[in-house]
Amino acid sequence: MRRLLTLLAVLAIALLARGVLAETILTPQGPAEVFSRGGQFDLAEVLRLTGAEVQFAAAAGSYSAVLGQREVQFTPGGTLAVVDGRLTALPTPVRLVDGRPLGTAATAEALLSALGWTLRQGARGWEVAALGGGERLQVSVVRDAGGTLIVVRGTAQEPRVILTPGQVGLLFAAPVALAEPIRPDGELTGGELNGPLLTLRLKDGVAVSSSYALPDPPRYVVRLGGEAQAAVVPLAPARRAGPLVVLDPGHGGEDQGAKGPASELEKSITLAVARATAARLQAAGVTARLTREGDDGVSLGNRTALANQLQADAFVSIHANAYRGKAVRGAETYYMSVDASDADAAAAAAAENVDAAPDTVQLILWDMAHVANLNASARLARSIQERFNELQGIKDRGIRQAPFVVLTGATMPAALVEIGFLSNPADARRLTSATGQEELAGVLAEAVLAFLRSREPAAEAGR
Ligand SMILES: [Zn+2]
Repeated sequence: MRRLLTLLAVLAIALLARGVLAETILTPQGPAEVFSRGGQFDLAEVLRLTGAEVQFAAAAGSYSAVLGQREVQFTPGGTLAVVDGRLTALPTPVRLVDGRPLGTAATAEALLSALGWTLRQGARGWEVAALGGGERLQVSVVRDAGGTLIVVRGTAQEPRVILTPGQVGLLFAAPVALAEPIRPDGELTGGELNGPLLTLRLKDGVAVSSSYALPDPPRYVVRLGGEAQAAVVPLAPARRAGPLVVLDPGHGGEDQGAKGPASELEKSITLAVARATAARLQAAGVTARLTREGDDGVSLGNRTALANQLQADAFVSIHANAYRGKAVRGAETYYMSVDASDADAAAAAAAENVDAAPDTVQLILWDMAHVANLNASARLARSIQERFNELQGIKDRGIRQAPFVVLTGATMPAALVEIGFLSNPADARRLTSATGQEELAGVLAEAVLAFLRSREPAAEAGR
């Protein structure tokens, strides 16, 4: 007995010396052992305690954990995670040690909270638990002098807003529940909560003009009205059979973008061209979604987040250039790269990145493994550039690469096209006239369709 104890003590000391321990974590199902070394946990094991399905994708070099409708992805060696399609910074980096993704308790907590769970150290040690039943939301319609508002009370969260024709989706990060069923009232015809996504259905022809969070009491407001939707994109079927493309009309809201000779705004031009392009894609059997339906300010991160969320087959951000001397004209197409291909490309990226958050630099250094679509992005960019060259009668300006923030974190082929120069009189005429915008949309739709057709059959079958 004494010898056995000695042996155990030696073994324990040896294990401690290496810092290898199995940490006990309490779960709703009882205590569980999780691999831990040097104060770091095996994050995959911790995430599995929630019931999440955790998998390692060797091709991307990243882990994904899926629990219900929520998903989080993280890559060893980095401090970034993708939470429901959106890039998020982790408190400390994830390290891969002996084939295990190790992270601190703070990082484990950050990943767990993305799934609606928490890791805490209580009197009885470490514990994972589901976050309390969630905030209870109350949805009501309020009318004021400025028009109609849909007010969601009971939350201080700023949900991700997903606009589709005829409805607005509010995607919450922390768990929510409905305090009572949504009652139709005027412009609000109904709605429901599916996991973290609150869908509000709107009367025909009603659009969202803006949305924002307000304090005291905390609530989230969706203002209806705004500019009339002249070219409403037909509502896509809920389950898509064919490909889906997300078009991103650059700028919007207070961010007006570049200005034309008669103060025409880039944000309006990009929206008009995006709508017309979407209509053409829909007519060709491709589901098209816009990152904004009206004159809304949408953060750069939310634009790709929508595309990731919808698992789009392609993402195209639409812009118009200006201020480089009147002689310069024609389209330019970019795809994502950490380094700009030349000084002009760097300047264009800097101009479009002004709305970016301060942690942009970190986001730009996002593991290039996630830009596994680089070749496909290059093909998408070329397909677009070739057709614009033809329309505009110019020699190839060349496909360029630049660190556009709006393209970072896209998990599908993505390109940004500057469809012309507002500072050039000929380009400006086309950009600002309805017929010109239709021409540009025709060319862009054709380019996207050609790109979709060119994809490998295997890639299609895999979807
Ligand atoms: Zn722009």
